[in-house]
Amino acid sequence: MTVIQVDKITIEKMQHFYKDNFKDKFPPHSIFSALSNGVTITVYHSGKALFQGNNANQEAKIWQAVSTTPPKKPKKTNSLPQNFSEWSVIGSDEVGNGSYFGPLVVVSAFVPKEKISELMSLGVKDSKTLTDDKIKQLANVIKSKIQHVILTVTPEKYNVTQPKMSQGQMKAELHNHALLKLLKVVNKNEVNGILIDQFELPKTYWNHLAHKEKVVKNDVYFITKAENEHIAVAAASIIARSEFLNELDKSSKQIGISLPSGAGANVDQIAAKIINEHGLDTLKCVAKWHFANTQKAINLKKRL
Ligand code: MN
Repeated sequence: MTVIQVDKITIEKMQHFYKDNFKDKFPPHSIFSALSNGVTITVYHSGKALFQGNNANQEAKIWQAVSTTPPKKPKKTNSLPQNFSEWSVIGSDEVGNGSYFGPLVVVSAFVPKEKISELMSLGVKDSKTLTDDKIKQLANVIKSKIQHVILTVTPEKYNVTQPKMSQGQMKAELHNHALLKLLKVVNKNEVNGILIDQFELPKTYWNHLAHKEKVVKNDVYFITKAENEHIAVAAASIIARSEFLNELDKSSKQIGISLPSGAGANVDQIAAKIINEHGLDTLKCVAKWHFANTQKAINLKKRL
């Protein structure tokens, strides 16, 4: 069996080419199915063309050459309702999952529609476009203005939990927990929707929570780059980032070595230095152990 992706124009050409060989019945979701030279050709609305039979490969080649379809971009799996950005929304985001040093922080924050313009005028936006200092300063202001829940998983706690579950599992449980906590304190009738910055497919998220007794399900939306879709996610992200930075500062002071965020080569160097000066146990208290950086640092330390 050979499968190729074809563009609209190629589909039209194929339809025309095989029209005399059409089968009586087409499979579901297909545009047509034909039998030609012992090869069954089925073309689907998705642009997928299936060739089955002995000469499937040769037959497919004809059309592959004709088609100019670029590799398919991953389809946006979901979209938000119109005017979603003007709704009263709980936004949820996490920070630190990609950083070797420091905690994993999940924050859910509620922005009622009356407060959207105020937060905008404060400069609340995608935290990736803000400096660390600005984030810390903004976070303090935001925290005083909106209801929120902060969940911080220190490296110590993270390293105990992580061997038992994937990071995706951990994040799903944390988001759910933060939402449950926040929904206890906000006026539920006021909440129009909940937006989680998508870190895995919604299907996977719900699978991760399938065993949980209490799951926040109603009006939950997922989208990638959600901080651009509703200011509640941008606010949650800023609070989370600020919490992450403060924890990183705290750990840095404790061990007397400035800890960077991220997971690059500079991180390996610092980690090696920590092993050298304080030992592995200290490193384990400030870093996410399962990252590849751990082994790299151990190797570097041997050469010190
Ligand atoms: Mn995120």
